[in-house]
Amino acid sequence: MRTAYICAMSNNEILICGAGIAGPALAYWLRKGGFTVTVVERAPEPRPGGQTVDLRGAGRTVIERMGLMDRARAESVDQRGLALVDHSGRTTARVPADSFCGEGIVSEIEILRGDLAHLLYEATRPDTEYLFDDTVTGIDQDADGATVTFEKAAPRRFGLVVGADGPHSATRALAFGPEQKFVHPLGLYTAWFTAADDLELDGWYLMHNAPGGLVASARPGRLPGEIKAGLSFRSAPIAYDRRDVAAQQELVAQRFAGLGWETPRLLRAMHTAPDFFFDSVGQVRLDRWSRGRVVLLGDAGYCATPLTGLGTSLALVGGYVLAGELAAAAGDHHIAFRRYDEVMRPYVSQAQQLPPGGSSGFAPSGRLGIRLRDLSMRQMTRWPMRNVLAAQFAKAGDITLPEYDLAADTR
Ligand SMILES: Cc1cc2nc3c(=O)[nH]c(=O)nc-3n(C[C@H](O)[C@H](O)[C@H](O)COP(=O)(O)OP(=O)(O)OC[C@H]3O[C@@H](n4cnc5c(N)ncnc54)[C@H](O)[C@@H]3O)c2cc1C
Repeated sequence: MRTAYICAMSNNEILICGAGIAGPALAYWLRKGGFTVTVVERAPEPRPGGQTVDLRGAGRTVIERMGLMDRARAESVDQRGLALVDHSGRTTARVPADSFCGEGIVSEIEILRGDLAHLLYEATRPDTEYLFDDTVTGIDQDADGATVTFEKAAPRRFGLVVGADGPHSATRALAFGPEQKFVHPLGLYTAWFTAADDLELDGWYLMHNAPGGLVASARPGRLPGEIKAGLSFRSAPIAYDRRDVAAQQELVAQRFAGLGWETPRLLRAMHTAPDFFFDSVGQVRLDRWSRGRVVLLGDAGYCATPLTGLGTSLALVGGYVLAGELAAAAGDHHIAFRRYDEVMRPYVSQAQQLPPGGSSGFAPSGRLGIRLRDLSMRQMTRWPMRNVLAAQFAKAGDITLPEYDLAADTR
């Protein structure tokens, strides 16, 4: 571990808020750069749940540089592609996984979000301090560092504080201001959960669109006997309690009542799902990602939304670049945060451009829109639609990853 050239060591102690994808990825590279890292996570353990996320482009390269690719491959989920189905289950369009050489809607390496979070946690646990079941409540910055107060733990001093706590970041609220200034809702809500596998998926990611901007989906899980379900709907802003799971499930149940295909089965499974997750879909946009000693990473700073398929790449690449720049600047956060912004900004801007149609392309509201979407999906593997889709996913590689003096791990 290199510690020799970190300046004054006052910035050597770094607090990361959030143990999702971005937080542990940053912790991994910070430790390689000789920093001491504490991660505080609100959940009692790394949060399971979520569907498969794509390891694409530069995000995949970061996993390779961590030496974790073999494990990621071993845990990846085989999927034959995306198939759209109507209310009776008849297939109306298909996009096979191999039609874009593994870089299409379903990428070559699809790993369950919970598995990836756990993999990153395991890789960092030996030399990172994790504080679960807690969160930051105050950040008081001064010339030498920041005093952080927690909900449960005693106050502590850190050199720098990183907000990697997702789109509703508490760190961002403390250092930058209220969420409404930075989160731009797309008028879409999504629930994800694990269900028992009594659907005939045959390796396909099945998606059913219905009028009203409703989307029900099911995709293969990694373990036998489980599938990953999704229920999304378009809506004007809804006020809901983010901690009240039963109320969220009731909201979803009301929206999807009476829907065809396998939706009734999915709704029944939802109520007993161990990992139900519900959120509004919105992009996070800020002109600057740092305020003094506080910096934002991943969805907290630049959530692109699941519609882009690029959130995981942004989180992984952001963690690598932030740690690399801090190491290169010997812990000087003024230099490092500026460079982090310079390197990441063009990549983030590209990634935040939504695919054609945005949320209405994903969840058309009328029958005609759904038929047009089926048609465009059938064209996806052909010119010119093929090029449109290929361009969207090529954005994942749209950055030249800097080489930093961080010792690579090939465990
Ligand atoms: C349970 C879950 C399921 C998801 N499923 C999908 C999916 O199926 N498809 C998809 O494309 N994207 C999904 N996402 C989002 C995806 O993980 C991110 O877009 C992307 O990987 C960027 O990761 P991140 O680490 O920035 O954010 P996240 O993965 O959201 O991680 C943020 C972490 O911060 C923690 N946190 C939040 N608030 C606080 C707080 N106040 N104090 C401390 N910790 C806090 C959260 O519990 C979480 O562990 C999911 C996110 C979560 C949390």
